[in-house]
Amino acid sequence: MTTLQAHTLPAIRPRLAARGAAKRLGPALGFLSLAALGATAIGCVAGAGEDPALVSDCRLEALACTAGQVCSEAFDGYVCVEREPEAPDVLVDPVGDTSEDPVDPALAHRALCDAAAQRFLDCLRPVCGAFGTHQEVSDYFCSLPEGEANLEYYAAALCFDLRGETCGQDGWECSCPEPPAEPVAPDEGDFRVAWDPPDSAVYREFETYLREANVIDQWVRWLNQTYKLPYSIQIQHEECGRVNAFYYNRKVHMCYEYLQAIADYWYGTNYTPAQASEAILGTWKAILLHEVGHAIVDAYDLPVTGQEEDAVDEFAALSLIASAEGRSVVYLAYFHRARSEDDPSLQAYADEHSLGIQRFYNMLCSVYGYAPEENAWILDRFPEMAARAERCPYEYRQKRASWDALLSPWVQ
Ligand SMILES: [Zn+2]
Repeated sequence: MTTLQAHTLPAIRPRLAARGAAKRLGPALGFLSLAALGATAIGCVAGAGEDPALVSDCRLEALACTAGQVCSEAFDGYVCVEREPEAPDVLVDPVGDTSEDPVDPALAHRALCDAAAQRFLDCLRPVCGAFGTHQEVSDYFCSLPEGEANLEYYAAALCFDLRGETCGQDGWECSCPEPPAEPVAPDEGDFRVAWDPPDSAVYREFETYLREANVIDQWVRWLNQTYKLPYSIQIQHEECGRVNAFYYNRKVHMCYEYLQAIADYWYGTNYTPAQASEAILGTWKAILLHEVGHAIVDAYDLPVTGQEEDAVDEFAALSLIASAEGRSVVYLAYFHRARSEDDPSLQAYADEHSLGIQRFYNMLCSVYGYAPEENAWILDRFPEMAARAERCPYEYRQKRASWDALLSPWVQ
C-alpha cells in the first residue's frame, strides 16, 4: 500500500508549473484546463457523462450554452461556464448591524483543502489504490504556500500528472507514485574518542603526538559523518601492558605499546624522521580502521564469510583508498611484512589472522587493483605478484561492491 509522501507531491510541482497553463486557468475550467494540458479523456476531471467534443469554442461555433451558463474566455478559446448567481438584494437596516456572521478564514481554507483532497483521491484511487488518508492529503493541500489558492484545479492537474501523460479510451497508462522506501536505520550512536592517561612518560608523549597530529579526530569525524550506528562505540587510547590493538564489547582499544612497536620499526628503516613520522601515523590510522571494522561487523551484525580478520583488513584498506590515503595501506602492509616470521610457527599458521606476509600481498593487491597504472611500482618492486595482479582490479571491485552492499543501510 502506498502512502502520501511529503516529498512525492512537491516533486511534481515543477513539471506542472512548467506547463504554464496552471496559472492561467480558473477553477471553473477544470475540464478544458486539462484538455489544454494534453489530455484527451480525463473522466475523473471532466465528470461522468461529459464529452470533450461537446465543449469547444462557444463564441466561434454554434455551441449554445445552456440556461444558467455564460460564454467565457478560457485559455485557448471560449467555453460555457456556470453563471455566477446574482447576489440577493439586502435590505439595509440603517440602525442595526447588517454584516453576516464572520467566516473563520482557517475553517474556510480547510474546507477548500478537504474538497481538493477528495477530488484528488477520487481520481487517483481507482488506479493507484490507497494513496494516503483523506486527512493526509488534505493536510498536504493545506501545506501549500499562500497563492496556491486554486486548490481544486491544482488537485485535478496533479491527478492528471500522476496518472500519466498518455491516457487512452481503453484505460489509463498509470504512473503511480513510487512506493515509499524501506525505513532507514536510525543513527543512535557515534564513535567517541577517549584518551586514558598513560603512566609511562614515553606513552604520554605518544598521546601528545597523536592528539597534536589530529589524525584520530579527523577519522572519527569521517566515520560519524559516514555511518549511522545503533549505539556509541568508544575508541580508547591506553596503556594495555601488551603490544596489541583490539575490539571488545563496543570499545576499540588502541594500545600505546603497539604504537611503540610501529615507531621502532619505522625509525629503524632508512626513512628520514619526517618520512617515518608520516609512516607511523599512516600505519596507526590503518590499524584503527581495522579495529573499527570489527566494531562495525559487531554493531551491524554483518554476515562474514571467510576470516573476519581478512574482511576487516579489506574494510580498512577500502576506507583509506576511498579517502585517497592508499599510502597508509602500504605502510601497514610493510609493517605486517616486517613482523611476519621467516619460518612461521605452526601457531602462526593456526592463528585467526593470515600470515603477515599474506596480509602484505592482500593489501598491495587492493592498492594496485584500485589504480593499476598509478601503482605500477608495486609490480616493479614485487614481480612475484604479476600473476595475481591481473585479477587485482576485479578483486578490488568485488570487495568494494560487497562492502557497499553490506553497509548501504547504515550509510548516512
Ligand atoms: Zn583484527
